[in-house]
Amino acid sequence: MGKFDKYKIDLKGMQADSCKYEFLLDNLFFAHIDGPEVQKGKVNVELTVKKTSRAFELSFRTEGIVWVPCDRCLDEITEDFEVDIDEMIDMAIFETDKVDEIEELDYLEDHIINMDMLLQKELMTLVPMQILCKDDCKGLCKVCGANLNHETCDCDDFVPDPRLSVFANILKG
Ligand SMILES: [Zn+2]
Ligand SMILES: [Zn+2]
Repeated sequence: MGKFDKYKIDLKGMQADSCKYEFLLDNLFFAHIDGPEVQKGKVNVELTVKKTSRAFELSFRTEGIVWVPCDRCLDEITEDFEVDIDEMIDMAIFETDKVDEIEELDYLEDHIINMDMLLQKELMTLVPMQILCKDDCKGLCKVCGANLNHETCDCDDFVPDPRLSVFANILKG
């Protein structure tokens, strides 16, 4: 059993022309995906797959929240993860040389949809590369690590040359 087995859907195994699947993305799911910075969340996913003669129509909806650490102070920020997506997989595409379009379907492996990959992509577009809890987040004190949004500290905020801090540590030690 791979980590993401429960997020794989075998289109060949569809019992009817239209099937509905439901998943819960939990902390474990977010811990296992590669980046972005999301490590926790609770998201319900509802997927409907409709089969036509040569294509599969996917429509999925996610509803829930994810927690992302602020880039500066590491406080957790709650983000809604709510998307509505319709996608059509035209199986005939694999018989063509439309490399770009085939590449877009990288979450499809033979007839198996890797929902984890698909959802991860959506997550990437949703969560910006840099995320701050607020525009003027004061971040963490570089010396003692205090969260300067919540507390103040007496550290000298002069940022020493890293080469000099080696000497400072020797003096301290
Ligand atoms: Zn922050
Ligand atoms: Zn400090």
